[in-house]
Amino acid sequence: MSTRRKFLQQGVLSSAGMLATGKLLQAANPAPAVTGGTKPIVISTWNFAKAANAAAWTVLSNNGHALDAVETGVKVPEGDPLVRSVGYGGIPDRDGRVTLDACIMDDKYNCGSVMCLEYIKHPISVARLIMEKTPHIILTGEGALRFALAHGFKKENLLTEWSENYWKEWLKKSNYSPVKNIENQLYDKTNDPMPGGKENHDTIGMLALDQQGRLSGACTTSGLSFKMQGRVGDSPIIGAGLYVDPEVGGATATGVGEEVIRIVGSHLIVELMRQGRSPEIACKEAVERIISRNPAKAKDIQVGFLAMNRNGEYGAYALQTGFTFHVRSNAEDQFHTAKNIY
Ligand code: ASP
Repeated sequence: MSTRRKFLQQGVLSSAGMLATGKLLQAANPAPAVTGGTKPIVISTWNFAKAANAAAWTVLSNNGHALDAVETGVKVPEGDPLVRSVGYGGIPDRDGRVTLDACIMDDKYNCGSVMCLEYIKHPISVARLIMEKTPHIILTGEGALRFALAHGFKKENLLTEWSENYWKEWLKKSNYSPVKNIENQLYDKTNDPMPGGKENHDTIGMLALDQQGRLSGACTTSGLSFKMQGRVGDSPIIGAGLYVDPEVGGATATGVGEEVIRIVGSHLIVELMRQGRSPEIACKEAVERIISRNPAKAKDIQVGFLAMNRNGEYGAYALQTGFTFHVRSNAEDQFHTAKNIY
């Protein structure tokens, strides 16, 4: 057989194979409705997302840069003491220390990350500065704090009275068990939705596509409540808690970070989108990957993924019910609840 004929035949065979795989995939995952597909647009995780997206929208609707939008947006929950899983007021580790994780990524593969940072209210801005002003990507703990102070950030006590009391209460039994975060109700400061610490971990992951088509992402959290001192979750790990590829799209994660890190969740989702999956199906396959690694464990924890492709189409998926996210664009300003497996 001539080389050319062989090549053509192989081509036919492999596209037949692809079709078959595509069919299988379709059978397992019914096609989702295409959502979004407009720009500018910003999406982010959980019930605090509405206020965060509103701040990001002030940048996007003024023709601003997606990077400025995501930084501005996630600073809202970082600065809000009633959001007890992000920034100021975050629930501490088991030693009573509030340690924050954050990362940011722009549309040119630039990224910055800060891990286990104490005393600084806006870790996302420190992450951005690391990205812009140092030859590095990640700074941790003491070094990150020194860097932040040298750049004019203020040293503040981040442990609020509520979080301190909650920690002291926890100390009585010292039982470490991340609850399944399933916030169904809309976040309302006047009606505190977390009396007694109903939720003990959450993260804001945000993705924005600006008018010029530039995509950026940010992710920030105080991590799992009562974690061991020095524990770092997925949120500040580029590829796990957040990943942005301008040629494809971006993804972000929330939930038990250890399980997200194991599958490098956000990068996985971006690669699945590169292969043609919709954002929702890519998120679903990442969730299924977590289940396939450890089905017994997956039943008892929450992990949620949120993704957007470079056309502004978005999707999400979670292990458990109740993973909310919010979308702001010229077409909508509303919450959605992600589909889930259990
Ligand atoms: N992913 C975060 C962490 O593991 C927590 C969360 O989003 O619920 O630190």
